[in-house]
Amino acid sequence: QTVRVLQGILEKSVFETWIHLTDAHSFDGHHLIIRVPSPMALDHINKYLLDTIQEAISVVTPEPVTVSFVLEENQAHRSQKHKDYREHPFEDEFTNQTPFNPKYTFDTFVIGERNRLAHAASIAVAERPAQNYNPFFLYGGVGLGKTHLMHAIGQHALRMNANAKVVYISCETFVNEFVTALQTRTIDDFRNKYRRADILLIDDIQFIAGKESTQEEFFHTFNTLHNDHKQIVITSDRPPKDIERLENRLRSRFSGGLIIDVKPPEFETRVAILRKKAKAEGFSIDNEALNLIATKVETNVRELEGALIRVIAYSSMMNRDIDALLVEEALTDILPADAKRPLTVADIQRVVCSHFQIQLEDMVSRGRQKEIAYPRQLAMYLTRTLTDLSLPKIGREFGGRDHTTVLHACEKISEDLKNDAKLQLLIHQLTDQLVIHNAKA
Ligand code: ADP
Ligand code: MG
Repeated sequence: QTVRVLQGILEKSVFETWIHLTDAHSFDGHHLIIRVPSPMALDHINKYLLDTIQEAISVVTPEPVTVSFVLEENQAHRSQKHKDYREHPFEDEFTNQTPFNPKYTFDTFVIGERNRLAHAASIAVAERPAQNYNPFFLYGGVGLGKTHLMHAIGQHALRMNANAKVVYISCETFVNEFVTALQTRTIDDFRNKYRRADILLIDDIQFIAGKESTQEEFFHTFNTLHNDHKQIVITSDRPPKDIERLENRLRSRFSGGLIIDVKPPEFETRVAILRKKAKAEGFSIDNEALNLIATKVETNVRELEGALIRVIAYSSMMNRDIDALLVEEALTDILPADAKRPLTVADIQRVVCSHFQIQLEDMVSRGRQKEIAYPRQLAMYLTRTLTDLSLPKIGREFGGRDHTTVLHACEKISEDLKNDAKLQLLIHQLTDQLVIHNAKA
């Protein structure tokens, strides 16, 4: 059962390319075995996805679960090849098996105010390598789409010209390969691999900081490529001038082309990203719920995706549709972006509306039908008890009502509470939900 749920979450989620869950018998309640298609996938999962997987599991089962990975059966020959590859580490340098994540394309990239330039420059570079912006230096905080754009450049460039030698490498791997090449005396192979590229994509260059001999090597790689009019694309978490322990000659090379940054997406873009991802995963999620996720997660896109996965997981576990209330519940204990501000009337209205499944417009309307009047009174009561707002202010927030109306609502709910256990429970729950949410301030 747990495996089924997990399967739902993981396979529909953003990393399906990398993961195929094994059959149910590989899960005994404590130990989960996940099949992965290739050593590269394994590497990727270990680096980037393990936390997300663990988190998905913790949503589904309270028990501690250990996770291990096996390579897929039919990959046996490939892992054999992987061995050969170790002996001749640079042998399969330009195979048609690309190192790119098929999900990281320009099509799947959502353009917003703060990444528009980065996106446009990336397309220009992919379509006309080495013609305008060389090197193209893209920087920005974690999880803002730098790697995504870099993969998109690589894949687009290959579509434009299938014969192009596009080499993608993380800086870490570059450093490691360089060290290995020195040890195994395969430095010529190493150089050939990088200096013969048409497009060299090097991700997270900040890792080269302080690594003097790698910097020296990369300086020559850079010059060779640049002189040969080959495109170089570099990403970093900061601009060249802020990378410490970087040789000045490299710093100046990095600054010799186009430098562009990506910034955290603003609200509308966050919503658009969520909508696109949800759709891609085959879920339809209403706007209110999407807006709420986008309000809670402001920092970066990776966390935004994590929150979406969590919501989807929670929904499939509870077997409930995804609405604002469910989002509230699923995300209560992840850092809400708004944790640092005090509870507002809007928070309370939102939570009460979603509990009673009514619209916010109704709550602040003149309407007096019981279905909306009662939730409204309850929300007024909660506002009175959980905030410092005065009665007239509360009245204004609820469609411009008189302070006596608010007072009446509060008195009525207090009275009901005395002998309505269900109501007591409800108030308790809603309060918890609102307060837990803000307790982290
Ligand atoms: P970085 O390399 O800057 O740390 P990534 O490129 O790894 O960030 O992006 C993190 C996640 O967010 C990836 O899954 C990526 O697809 C997604 N992402 C980032 N920006 C966008 C965007 N504008 N549109 C769609 N997905 C995005
Ligand atoms: Mg990255």
